[in-house]
Amino acid sequence: MNTPAPLQLKLPRCLLDPGLSGLPVDADGLVALAVEHRDGRITDLRPLPETDIPLPLALTPLVEPHAHLDKCFSWADFPNPGGTIAGALSQNLREAEQRHGELVLARGEAALERAWRHGLRAVRSHIDSGGAGARSSWDALLELRSRWAGRVELQLVALVPIGYWATPAGAELARWVAAAGGLLGGVLGPPYGHGRRDRQALARLLDLAEALGTGIDLHNDEADREPARGMRLLLNVLRQRRTSPPITCSHAASLGLLNRSQLAPLAEALAAAGIAVVALPLTNLWLLGRRTGQQPLLRPQAPIHSLQRAGVTVAVGGDNVQDPWYPGGDFDPLELLRLAPLTSHLWPAQRRDLAAFTTAPARLLALSWDGVLRRGAPADLVLTGAGNWSDLLARNPQRRVLRNGRWLPMPDGGPAAALLNASMG
Ligand SMILES: [Zn+2]
Repeated sequence: MNTPAPLQLKLPRCLLDPGLSGLPVDADGLVALAVEHRDGRITDLRPLPETDIPLPLALTPLVEPHAHLDKCFSWADFPNPGGTIAGALSQNLREAEQRHGELVLARGEAALERAWRHGLRAVRSHIDSGGAGARSSWDALLELRSRWAGRVELQLVALVPIGYWATPAGAELARWVAAAGGLLGGVLGPPYGHGRRDRQALARLLDLAEALGTGIDLHNDEADREPARGMRLLLNVLRQRRTSPPITCSHAASLGLLNRSQLAPLAEALAAAGIAVVALPLTNLWLLGRRTGQQPLLRPQAPIHSLQRAGVTVAVGGDNVQDPWYPGGDFDPLELLRLAPLTSHLWPAQRRDLAAFTTAPARLLALSWDGVLRRGAPADLVLTGAGNWSDLLARNPQRRVLRNGRWLPMPDGGPAAALLNASMG
């Protein structure tokens, strides 16, 4: 393959080889670079002299740590305009009654096609796994995982009520999921189980994951009340054990309701237990803190900065896409990044804030590439039509995605363009 002309772009310093010294970093934390690649690998990175020529802000491809491919794009048929959790659950159950493998495969295919063109390189998806149709959803998404290997890495998590793991059917599911290379998941409140029920179910889940050598990813404390009840229970159960499988807790929204003196020791305990957190601000803002007929006051979500300060690995994810749990979303990591200053006061010029979208989810998913550009790294980049972070927030930018040294086809504009074209005849 011929050597392509060097790319000229600006990349965040935190996504560049820390071994490169003396790089000029601008106020946005960006470094102007010439990037050379050959045969799908980066061959050279050179800082560019100061110039007035505008350069595109670039990132390495991003990672979606929390999605639901089995139900995505189902909002139109199963809407939940009231936006309550009860309404979402009831529509989810109705939708699941008619869900089948072919439908899940079609949804997953459409989802990964959009994810790939938007610049995602890995997606972790939870799958409703307690019902009669669960096996066909798994078969479909395992097929999807092999179809997309090398383009978008797909990780799969079994999602069931936590008590399911204490049943014989749960143990059988765990064995089957582990053999398929999946993770064990579940929902830990609300509602929380009475007495020792959740505690026993958690202990059983930990036993299964440890015996089978799988990781765990729980929906935990997706709530605007009973702050951190699930997280405290999990930590209590872990204190009774000498070892633990790798654990991720998704949502952790009610932790945001703790005051500083309650949160600091909890965050330290999570860091000490090696529990990672996936913050999901969009679904939390849509579903939580609702007050009938009034504007929301409580806007609970994972306290990202406090957790990071304590040493917890925190990634930000998109969660539901156009399903009963959230009407929007498009598997677009730049959308999530563009909204993050508003949803979570994350400012991507800050190393730690940007890490929640890039290197932290790569670590959380144990991906083979950390997402840092260095000589020998994959020639994978997302170039945006923005020149700096403010520009990125100002308007949804065009983008070009380079994967394995080749440009992906330009996005076709998607459903919005089709709609406009149709109206123009
Ligand atoms: Zn979820």
